[in-house]
Amino acid sequence: MTAKSHRGVTVCPSRNRGNLFETWTGANGGYGPRLLPGLGRFMQAASITIVVCEDCGFMQFFAGDAERKRLAETPRHWKRVSGLPRKH
Ligand SMILES: [Zn+2]
Repeated sequence: MTAKSHRGVTVCPSRNRGNLFETWTGANGGYGPRLLPGLGRFMQAASITIVVCEDCGFMQFFAGDAERKRLAETPRHWKRVSGLPRKH
């Protein structure tokens, strides 16, 4: 597996320091929850990038580009959160 972009995250929000590691993995669960239901493709599980702070263990999860593009197309699984203006 190849690590993908960490979305520009270089600092831990918990301690405001940068000692982060990242990896890329499937989001289909196995024995755990499906983290991105409905966003995979046939025979291709949705993937996530996980960024972990070595100092405190704070973890951040990021959906991949293709998965994010499918969010609005899968209302059966994903409902837009309203109340805040969209940034882009
Ligand atoms: Zn930290």
